[in-house]
Amino acid sequence: MLARPGGPADPPSVARRGRAGPARRDDDGGVTTPEQPDLPDLPTDDVERVLVLAAHPDDPEYGVGAAVARWTSEGRDVRYVLATHGEAGIAGLDPAESRELRAREQQASCAVVGVTSLELLDHPDGVLVEGPALRRDLAAAVRRHRPHLVVTLNHRETWGPGPGGAWNTADHRALGRCVLDAVADAGNAWVHRDLLAAGLEPWQGVRRTAVAGSPAATHQVDVTAHLGTAVASLREHRRYLEALSDRPVEEQARAVVALTTGAGEDLSGRGAVRFEVFG
Ligand SMILES: [Zn+2]
Repeated sequence: MLARPGGPADPPSVARRGRAGPARRDDDGGVTTPEQPDLPDLPTDDVERVLVLAAHPDDPEYGVGAAVARWTSEGRDVRYVLATHGEAGIAGLDPAESRELRAREQQASCAVVGVTSLELLDHPDGVLVEGPALRRDLAAAVRRHRPHLVVTLNHRETWGPGPGGAWNTADHRALGRCVLDAVADAGNAWVHRDLLAAGLEPWQGVRRTAVAGSPAATHQVDVTAHLGTAVASLREHRRYLEALSDRPVEEQARAVVALTTGAGEDLSGRGAVRFEVFG
């Protein structure tokens, strides 16, 4: 989606997710984290491979990246498949140039958190449509990578936590809903039958699907030890962030990680990434 300097950003920028409230200072000048109750830990003992499915380059870095850094540090195999090249994402930059730049920035970002497999599909940025074409390509990705945990970004109308958050974009809603359906499609040999003909056998090994940024979070992943890596990963989207705001890229990256993990504005607190879990 389009990044407009000084304007609303996509994906969930600090401004758009402001309702969630980043850290705030208490009366003593110290930093407190948002008032969110602890949730049960996301189970990962039975997870060897993780597949992150998202709409755009940089979507994984808006919240999920810290959890990915933890999982790869634990030896789990984490891969990304993005539905678009994010070619409509930078104001003033032609989509033909933007798609290549954004792919490079995403690749660099992946390297920081230990993700070695990145695929960018060719669905059109900004006008993703919920339907069988997108479901098919996502189901194909699930069959190719055979994950035990699928991770995606918020498919609901607003951003979490809780009700009343900022409106989510059409691409994210379409992508997230298709992911939830595609996990089932991936296990059914008689849905998207051309996949079977192409040698992609059904995969029923997805144990759960975890949705980051949902207003209905059910589980969390403690990422306190991985906040710096998450900042470094988001920072690799340099050109995108430069177009988004006049604030220094480092500042933007730290603010996003603070907001999405609740670790406090100086990132000195405990951080957790929250997910709504299905399956
Ligand atoms: Zn996005």
